[in-house]
Amino acid sequence: MNNWKAIRSTSAFPLAVSSVLIVLTGILAAIVFHTESIQITSMFERITAFLFTFAAIFLSFLWLLMLLYESFDRPFGKLHKTAKWFLFFVYYPFAMVIATLFRLSREDIQTSFLEFQNRIFLANNKLNSQSRLLLLLPHCLQFHDCKVRITRDINSCEDCGECDICNLKDLGKRFDMKIGIANGGTLARKIVNDIQPDAIIAVACHRDLTDGVRESWKFPVYAILNERPFGPCYDTRVDTEKIESILQLILS
Ligand code: SF4
Repeated sequence: MNNWKAIRSTSAFPLAVSSVLIVLTGILAAIVFHTESIQITSMFERITAFLFTFAAIFLSFLWLLMLLYESFDRPFGKLHKTAKWFLFFVYYPFAMVIATLFRLSREDIQTSFLEFQNRIFLANNKLNSQSRLLLLLPHCLQFHDCKVRITRDINSCEDCGECDICNLKDLGKRFDMKIGIANGGTLARKIVNDIQPDAIIAVACHRDLTDGVRESWKFPVYAILNERPFGPCYDTRVDTEKIESILQLILS
């Protein structure tokens, strides 16, 4: 069962995008095969047919290239920014259309999308100990009854051990990393814009993380899903050891 879940979280997004592109290519093939039987006379029809053909070929080609590069952990080079833009603003909406049409779990698609973009992050970003890193955390990681105000400064945490904040504070010190705690998208955007980091390690739930990664698409972001043992936005947890191993990996 866990194996199946792992396969799904790896392949759901690429499969959904590939399905859309296969359908687009199928429509294109139908147009080409029927060109001789139907009369395309007006300029408008010609331009529409040309644009559709160009878009279908371009998007399919770029997607194949991304799949190849991602599979072999190869950096995109000069294509990196363009590929990221298409990934976030074209291919991701394609995958969500499939999720809506076939009533697939949006969270499965989002998990797979985040894993896909994480692999692209690892292949394309070489960081070092001088890099300005930002660990962006959601406020719901803080224990619900804690009276300490940590949104301004995580160092206010009194290390009682009720939540993961104290371990994350230590991690920030050990890796000389800024830590931002946001209780919403507006504050998260402000933190990112103020710090202008070289890379962001972002922790949040499926929806916030996907929105945040797409909004901050110009920044390299490694996305880590939080755990929600008590439901959304309440005493959430995060695997601190996982964050530490990611930091060691990207700084190696
Ligand atoms: S670990 Fe820090 S933030 Fe968490 S409950 Fe204790 S004092 Fe509050």
